[in-house]
Amino acid sequence: MFTDSHCHLNRLDLTPYNGSLERALDAARLAGVTRFLAVAVDLDDYEILLDIANHHTDIGISVGAHPCESAEMLTLATVDTLVSLAQDPKVWAIGETGLDYHYSTENAEVQRESFSRHIAAGQLTGKPVIVHTRAARADTLGVLREQHALFGKIHGVLHCFTEDWATAEGALALGYYVSFSGIISFKNAQDLRDVAIRVPLDRLLIETDSPYLAPMPYRGKSNEPLYLPHVARVLADLHQISVEKLAQITSDNFDRMLQDAQESLQRLDKIHAALQMNNHHLNQSTLDISIVRDKGLTG
Ligand SMILES: [Zn+2]
Ligand SMILES: [Zn+2]
Repeated sequence: MFTDSHCHLNRLDLTPYNGSLERALDAARLAGVTRFLAVAVDLDDYEILLDIANHHTDIGISVGAHPCESAEMLTLATVDTLVSLAQDPKVWAIGETGLDYHYSTENAEVQRESFSRHIAAGQLTGKPVIVHTRAARADTLGVLREQHALFGKIHGVLHCFTEDWATAEGALALGYYVSFSGIISFKNAQDLRDVAIRVPLDRLLIETDSPYLAPMPYRGKSNEPLYLPHVARVLADLHQISVEKLAQITSDNFDRMLQDAQESLQRLDKIHAALQMNNHHLNQSTLDISIVRDKGLTG
């Protein structure tokens, strides 16, 4: 049973389903996709995605602002806002966040600040962070390492991975999962397949990133969760296991990512309680954690 670890359910082209998201989801379910993480690209997505998820037990959502959003939107996504929106149990993750210098580096500084805030919000809520990176591999690893030095292990995933092995290796060393999309099936993506074969099975996730990046043989068409098994098939072949096995492993990995993030929060809560820091304002929390770390209490 497949887990689509990254799809934009509020942006799908529902024309083939007479406008019904329910029918698009049913088509995916029939193909074995049993869980969907509906990822937000801006704060306005929150209510829409929550409404979708509230009607389905197999859908969770994320909260966040994509690095390509305007500086205004990124500025609105404060740690306080992200943390308060993420209180809903339907919020499984924080993001998507990260760095994207493909179109411009004009907002690079704002993007980096926003990225760090999302990571802080993930740490404060016990939810994994969904990292998007494009044309910014050195800075992305830079922020991940900097935040790792501040918080210790951060739970999350580099989604729609298209970078080189050195970047994957750097992220894996910090404990991140690596997720592949339909790009892995493209004819000209041999370099990426060479990277994917080296990612350990217990750190792999799969996604459609629908409606974008439809896998072969649907390349160029609007993507949907129904096509996830085509992504899985390529990865299964690379790792020389069955699609069913790949589906099971990546679903288990997804569960573990969520669970480990939750458990790390519980540990942090105990430390906070022990230090009687519970009445501090959230804005103070990043600082609190660094104090905790400096005292060597997080291990
Ligand atoms: Zn993305
Ligand atoms: Zn996305």
